[in-house]
Amino acid sequence: MESISVFDMLKIGVGPSSSHTLGPWRAVQRWLRELAEAVDLRAVERVEIALYGSLALTGHGHATDVAVCLALLGYDPETIPVEQIPTLMDTLRTEQQIVLPSGTALAFNPATDIVFHKDIRLPFHANGMTCRAQIGETWQESTYFSVGGGFVLKEGETLGGDQRTLRYACHVPADVAAHCTREGLRIAEMVGANEQAWRSPEQIRTDMLGVWEVMKQSIYRGCHRDGMLPGGLNVKRRAHGLNLKLLGEPAYDDADGWITAIRARRHRFSDVLKWVSCFALAVNEENASLGRVVTAPTNGASGVIPAVLMYYICFSETRVTDNAIVDFLMVAGEIGSLFKKGATISAAMGGCQAEIGVSSSMAAAALTEALGGSVDQALMAAEIAMEHHLGLTCDPVRGLVQIPCIERNTMGAIKAIHAAELAVESDPHAAKVTLDEVIQTMFKTALDMKDEYKETSQGGLAVNISVRIPEC
Ligand code: SF4
Repeated sequence: MESISVFDMLKIGVGPSSSHTLGPWRAVQRWLRELAEAVDLRAVERVEIALYGSLALTGHGHATDVAVCLALLGYDPETIPVEQIPTLMDTLRTEQQIVLPSGTALAFNPATDIVFHKDIRLPFHANGMTCRAQIGETWQESTYFSVGGGFVLKEGETLGGDQRTLRYACHVPADVAAHCTREGLRIAEMVGANEQAWRSPEQIRTDMLGVWEVMKQSIYRGCHRDGMLPGGLNVKRRAHGLNLKLLGEPAYDDADGWITAIRARRHRFSDVLKWVSCFALAVNEENASLGRVVTAPTNGASGVIPAVLMYYICFSETRVTDNAIVDFLMVAGEIGSLFKKGATISAAMGGCQAEIGVSSSMAAAALTEALGGSVDQALMAAEIAMEHHLGLTCDPVRGLVQIPCIERNTMGAIKAIHAAELAVESDPHAAKVTLDEVIQTMFKTALDMKDEYKETSQGGLAVNISVRIPEC
């Protein structure tokens, strides 16, 4: 069974989609590396990228073409200055030229050299893409699959690539419970011991606080930007107005000052609910505008975990320490990896239950342990959160990660908080459904779900609402 680092479940990237933006970006980067090893890049005369299945059907709305172009231009999703993306794309469309790592300049027209095969689905996975390079009369080609959460497999590969030995190997939730009970560990401690197979304890802490910093900044930016989201749906940003209504005109200079200002207020119950929604909306509005967010475990669902963690930070009676933030994210990452191993985190495979459902489950377990719940209660909270997302379909309107995606993060966050509160007041040994069982059920539901409801924009809201804007 594959070993998955929690940092694989919490990747820093660019919106709007982990499977349709981050994954294809990583696939092209990988292809360029492999191509450079296989041939002399100076001999390449032309490149072409073919997209299949869900990547083709919703690739325009999910910026798959933009991701492909930025990868071909040599940019990395973790470090690209996101504010420059529109200019980079305008320049490419005008000049129609890319430069390979060898320094070789090639003609490349995004409009014709990225081919959307909407009627072809490759057998292995709905998110297939083939990268081709012409050298003389021959074409070198490789096929990749974006299997969710930014993970990429090359044709012929299967999950399970990283087989390193972990101190406490966990394949199913029962393994987590068994290790923690036997060793007297909290989930965060167990995950911390496992994570040392990849990096030192100091590095884990530093990198995880780096993940939180990106989450925090994405909430802050989203709460302080007004206007319309890109893509033509005319969706207005709402986090900005909500933040203003709840807090008044800004009397702070940065994200930490803003958090202090929120903490200083007395909040009614209804305001707390609005704040949680505000945090989630902010991240997903940033995600929809190709902003920098943390894939957690996907981009479409990137607002749930930051919103729940921010709720914990802003509305706990005691100040939340950096160590508590690290622990929260470690638990969230571990729960996400259990879904990846036992089911799927790809909406193209399992619908939105695999995105918002999984993120809600991750956040619920993390908040439960943060609130002092036991290991069994944390696993129970994860189960409750997923149980009430089972069957949730993916039907993004116009293929954009906006409707229903942005609001759906607010629902996932609220359900996570409620699942945690229920779990800490419950006896997990009296629960009738286990997390193991709900993961299996989610996967079975994913297999039974019609393709129309799996990130194709061919069913549900995507075809049953009239979008009241002119065609563009
Ligand atoms: S409907 Fe859910 S799974 Fe589909 S793109 Fe939106 S957030 Fe992702």
